[in-house]
Amino acid sequence: MEMNRSWMYCSRSNMVFKEGVKNFLNFAFSYGSSSGMILCPCRDCGNGIYRTRDDVEAHLLWRGFKPRYYNWTAHGETSFRNDIGSHSLNVDDVNDDMEGLLNIHIKQ
Ligand SMILES: [Zn+2]
Repeated sequence: MEMNRSWMYCSRSNMVFKEGVKNFLNFAFSYGSSSGMILCPCRDCGNGIYRTRDDVEAHLLWRGFKPRYYNWTAHGETSFRNDIGSHSLNVDDVNDDMEGLLNIHIKQ
């Protein structure tokens, strides 16, 4: 699993973002959907509303992801914190900054 999610908050006209949205949708729908819909993680819906793939893609391309949704826990991904807990990391070095957690993850 690619843990570098910096693309999620780069320019939405950037190809990296558009490709990332596709990958996100593939990931979310491979995990499972409800009547062909998943929770929309866009800025407005905030994982509170089920929408179709086309709708979610449009929302993300127009509005972007809700803030700091690096860890796709509403879409089948296990928590990074649990992952880190299973490694022999010094917990004292881990702060609550999600980007810090991501950096630690990438270096492993
Ligand atoms: Zn939405």
